[in-house]
Amino acid sequence: MLETALYECPYCGEAVETSVDISGGDQTYIEDCQVCCRPIKFVLQVDAEEWHLEVFSENE
Ligand SMILES: [Zn+2]
Repeated sequence: MLETALYECPYCGEAVETSVDISGGDQTYIEDCQVCCRPIKFVLQVDAEEWHLEVFSENE
């Protein structure tokens, strides 16, 4: 199931909308920022009724 998430880029500070697939459960993945193209580490945590997306710069 795809959900829309809003994140704030740890590099450029822009608020960017992205799609996350919460049906796969907890995930950690790297995706380039759509604004500044630097690699952001996304940590997606999925619970029974809630999900939460956190972002980090790659070297954190
Ligand atoms: Zn950025």
